[in-house]
Order: sequence, then C-alpha cells, then structure tokens
Amino acid sequence: MRRPLLLVAAIASCAARPAPAPQSADSPAVRAFVGAMRASLNALVAVDTSHGHETDALRPIAEQLRAWLPVEIVESAPGRGNLVARYKGTGARRPLLLLAHVDVVPVEGQPWTVPPFQVTEKDGFLWGRGVNDDKGMAAAIVALAMEIGRTRPALSRDVIFALTAGEETGGSAGARWLTQNRRDLIDAEVALNEGGSVRLDDEGKHVVQVGLGAAEKTFQSYRLVVRGKGGHSSVPPTDSDPVLTLSRALVKVGEFRFPPRVIAAAKDQLAADAKLEPRAIAEVEARVARVGQVSDEDERILSKERFVNAHLRTTCVTTQLLGSPQDNVLPTTAEATVNCRIMPDETREQTLATLQRIMGDPSVEITPTADFGFGPYSAVDGEFAQAMKRAVDAVWPGVPIVSTLGTGATDSRHLRAIGIRAYGVDVTPISQAEALAGHAAHGPDERNPSQWLPDGARFLRELVYGLAR
Ligand SMILES: [Zn+2]
Repeated sequence: MRRPLLLVAAIASCAARPAPAPQSADSPAVRAFVGAMRASLNALVAVDTSHGHETDALRPIAEQLRAWLPVEIVESAPGRGNLVARYKGTGARRPLLLLAHVDVVPVEGQPWTVPPFQVTEKDGFLWGRGVNDDKGMAAAIVALAMEIGRTRPALSRDVIFALTAGEETGGSAGARWLTQNRRDLIDAEVALNEGGSVRLDDEGKHVVQVGLGAAEKTFQSYRLVVRGKGGHSSVPPTDSDPVLTLSRALVKVGEFRFPPRVIAAAKDQLAADAKLEPRAIAEVEARVARVGQVSDEDERILSKERFVNAHLRTTCVTTQLLGSPQDNVLPTTAEATVNCRIMPDETREQTLATLQRIMGDPSVEITPTADFGFGPYSAVDGEFAQAMKRAVDAVWPGVPIVSTLGTGATDSRHLRAIGIRAYGVDVTPISQAEALAGHAAHGPDERNPSQWLPDGARFLRELVYGLAR
C-alpha cells in the first residue's frame, strides 16, 4: 500500500539528521549502544524459550521500543510470538530487514556448570543459553532499534527489526510463517541474519576472519523402511530379515561419497580457510580452491577433514534406527532416518535418486520426510560488498572478509525463497577452538568472550548505517 505523500514528508522532515559516521569503541554513543545491548541480552536469556513461550521474552522488549517505534507482536500460535518494528526511511530504496531468532535449543540432559537461563559473567566470558545462538544478535538488534528510534537519522530505506520464534525447529512458527502469512511486515530487498562468523585466533586475542553467509546447504531427511512378517523371536526368519536388508542398505549409504565439487559459494572460503589450517591440509585446500577441482589425491587428504569434506559435497548420514518394540518380538518394520545436507545447486530429487541407485534394492522403501524449505545463493555484489568492507574496516581494519557456504540451516533460506537477499553475519566473535569444544552453540556452557561483544555489536551498527545511508 502506498502511503500519502504528506505523511512521508512529515516523517522525513523530523528525520533530518544524517546517519552517524563510524565512531570509536569508547565514544559515548557506542558505549550507550553496547550498554543497551547488554541489558537486552540479560533480559532475553532470562526467559526460557527452549520450548516455545517466545512471546514472554518479547513483550518487555515491545514495551521498551514502543516509546520510539511502531511495534507489533504477531503470534503464529499461542505464545509463539514474533516481534516486528519498523523505522521509516525516505523510501528511496527497498527495506533492510534485521532478523534474529529468540527461541533456543533445550538444556535438558546437558551438564551445565552455570544456570543456563541467566547471563553469568566469569573468566572473561558471558555464559548462558543463547548468548551465541541467537540472543546475542537479537540484543544487538534491539539496541540498534532503540538508537535509531531515538536519534531518528535520515535513512534511504526502511529498517525492519524482526525477532522471531521457532528457528531451531524449522522456522514454521517464526520466519517461515511470516513469509507465508505476514509478508507485508518483513518484505525487504536485503536481510541480515545469523549464519556469518567472526573468527578469533585460538588464544582469543585477534579477529582473523569475518565470514559472510551467502548460501546454505539444503536440509532434507529420508525415511527408509523395510517390511517383515514379524512373529516370535525364538523362530527367526530363514529367508528374508528386514533388519539385515536395511543394514546392508545403510552400509552402502554410509560408505558412499557423493562426488566432490568446488562450487562458487565455497571457493572463497576454502581459499581463506587454507591460510588458517595446518600446512599439510592448507596446501591441498588452497590448490583445490585455485583450480576448482578435487583430484583423487586431494580427495584422499581432504575427505578425512570433517569440515572441509562437508563443504565439498552433499553428505548423507544415518541418524535414527527403529526396530521391534520389544526384545522377544520380530520386527514387522525396520526403519532408519538418513539426514542429508545437499549442495545448494543440487535438488532433493537428485539426492533421492542417488540414494535409491546406491542401495539398489527396491524392497527398501525410501520417502522424503517434512520439507524444511530451501533458498538460493545470495550474490555478494558491489554495493553490499562495499558496505561490508567499510563496516569491517571500521572495527577490525584489514581483516579479510570471506563469503561462506553454511553446512547447517538458518532462517535465511525462508527469506531467500521469497526473493530477499539474505546474508549471514555475526556479532559474537569466537575462536575455532571454542566452537570445537562445543561452547559456540547448542552445547552445555554456551559462552562468548565478553571483551569482543562490544566490537561485534559495533560492526552490526556500522553495517546497518552503511546499507541504509
Ligand atoms: Zn540460531
């Protein structure tokens, strides 16, 4: 809907100040911004959103923001709130969407050494469920919404602030629901979401790489079922046993390697990661990135490296098994779930056909489980690349920026699927050593080095002003 010109003029006239130029970490504006972010992080982590209840976390934020911006909480189901606020720009360019999810993964069964649902500051870290994934980003977005709402800079485009539900369970309560039911609220040209990285060296002293999430592999599971006659386990079948048939098929799936390929979305990352890896791997990785192909010799070395391997090919792995409900009962079905992460330029149908071919047994029924959604590659073009470079240089001068292929999935796929160019960025710098120790996301004792949080937040602030100036 077009707004009357008069209203646009009125808003533009009270938003006369230009977007602020980059400022140092100890400037009063940045200190206030970081303070607001820390307060929001405390408030967000304190509400357990591991089993829904996102509205409880969002209501106090909405109250705060309402002083400066129009805010709505829209629920996809009772308690499953999504907060959307909008700051009006001049409309010269289409909107910029900032999105973070406020649900978190559960903590049950995990050996936490601090209370998971409160921010604890100790040993140089902020500890708590969600500090990395994704309440840190959500808190930075809230702080930015408050600053922009209060200072009313003249921006060339609307900035939309969205805090969403249910990302960890597929986005159908949050981002995907919004794209399908309230697209008017979040439609944008460009979106910044989780899925990027700011990598520290293993000592946590320097930022060595900024990763920009430009593409993601497609998540798709398949259910495998083999049927049997059942009966008493004291008289096992002598002809066909569904468990054996399934097991043979799973061995073939487990031993199969999809062909390695260097796709455009992974090339940059392989070249950049090579500079940070031990020499033996680094040389091979650099060569593969340079020539764009993987030789048999390269394959022998790289396929042993879990992270590199996942960037070179579609992967499928068996994650669940199911047989008889009791030990003295022969199963009438033997079932398995195979989870695949598919290269963004391959289809789920191609992967299904490959699995059928390598199993080579029609008695193994294979069907795709729920559609998780997928989206295309977001091109890193001139304007976006420039804004990114300026923001990184303002905070971490000279640190290389690398476009990355995510092996996991974020809400970006839902945005990309409706034509929004979504990019993964990060406001919570962390080292590879911390990530491998399980502290980055989803693990017990999720934590983030507190000294880097202000810089992470400042980076997002510079990037947003750069894109909306
Ligand atoms: Zn997340």
